[in-house]
Amino acid sequence: MKKTGIATTCVQGGYTPKNGEPRQIPIVQSTTFRYETSEAMGDLFDLKASGYFYSRLQNPTCDAVAAKIAALEGGTAAMLTSSGQAANFFAVFNIAGAGDHVVASAHIYGGTFNLFAVTMKRMGIDFTFVSPDATDEELNAAFRPNTKAVFGETVSNPSLTVLDIERFAKAAHAHGVPLIVDNTFATPVNCRPFDFGADIVTHSTTKYMDGHGAAVGGAIVDSGKFDWAANAEKFPGLCTPDESYHGITYVKEFGQAGAYITKATAQLMRDFGCTQSPQSAFLLNLGLESLHLRMKQHCANALKVATFLGSHPNVTWVRYPDLPGDPYHALQQKYLPNGSSGVVSFGVRGGRRAAEAFMKQLKVAAIETHVADARTCCLHPASATHRQLTDEQLVAAGVSPDLVRYSCGIEDPDDLIADLAAALDAVEA
Ligand SMILES: *Cc1c(COP(=O)(O)O)cnc(C)c1O
Repeated sequence: MKKTGIATTCVQGGYTPKNGEPRQIPIVQSTTFRYETSEAMGDLFDLKASGYFYSRLQNPTCDAVAAKIAALEGGTAAMLTSSGQAANFFAVFNIAGAGDHVVASAHIYGGTFNLFAVTMKRMGIDFTFVSPDATDEELNAAFRPNTKAVFGETVSNPSLTVLDIERFAKAAHAHGVPLIVDNTFATPVNCRPFDFGADIVTHSTTKYMDGHGAAVGGAIVDSGKFDWAANAEKFPGLCTPDESYHGITYVKEFGQAGAYITKATAQLMRDFGCTQSPQSAFLLNLGLESLHLRMKQHCANALKVATFLGSHPNVTWVRYPDLPGDPYHALQQKYLPNGSSGVVSFGVRGGRRAAEAFMKQLKVAAIETHVADARTCCLHPASATHRQLTDEQLVAAGVSPDLVRYSCGIEDPDDLIADLAAALDAVEA
């Protein structure tokens, strides 16, 4: 399909049926595919021919949905994974191994922080966490000769920091490594990190992309812009023969635009098997078809809710990048002028206990670990997603103990505000 606007891509991207074929993406619920000769199958295993043979590696339904996400982000190649966690793990592990080092923003999702600081650390990869507000000097000082990537979130969950993508990309490129951006909260409707120099984008498709709380999933997209060959000594996995795949060199065989995703599929998906099911990919695609409409309503609701919260005496602080007084407003205006996301955070007068009591009073918003859904939900991260963090780590991650993460759905904003007003009025500060 020719390059189209974001709404057309949401609705029609990734799949163009031929004469008489199904209008909707078919769910190819098959683990395997039939071939007439062993030779034909051998060519697939050698990556000499492209085609399907086993759904752990590739499946037509998943590929069509991945192609839509690649088009939405303006990338050259994409793959679906079983979850956002799997996407971030693969995105980093595809280019970093034992003995390597990665620079990451300290303001990232709690699950990703744990993946990096604990589990991948155990695999021999070191992470340096830098403040998203670090000066260029501090940022550059975080790099080591064995640094392989820089990682951040466009709009961080739950601290709502807007990443200065251009500045982080510049620092990464000056050290010959790519910038990986988790674009879950913004979605390509609100920001396309590749337009600002990011090289790889990841998603928890569980959030806005699905949008209906129906299926856990993830995605990785390659911009095709990072020149692996020019930094070959840093990326031997992409630039030297892969003995586990008949000596194929990914950048030679698949070019700058295809090497990264092909390697992640051929090696990581083959060995770890974190696949998305065709059924989940189908549900994800239904969500993508309305992503452009839902993001508008999420952001409009969030701005109204944030403005209301700012005026309530029992709210001590409000963070929403779209508010003119927000510390990240200038970056929001630059990177996400149509809105950051539907997520607002705030503190309730009286701290941790008051926050918990207030949340119990809510009737329209539900207490959930989930976020970025059509239904409004809220969470107290310090007692849920971030409870494994020490108080020091909480502060470093931009999550204060009284922080309430409030994820505006696409209901009537007046109902959300009435619900909040009743619960806040009941707070005994
Ligand atoms: C939820 C989330 C993840 C993890 O995704 P799962 O699909 O839950 O595995 C990663 N990054 C961000 C920003 C998230 O919000």
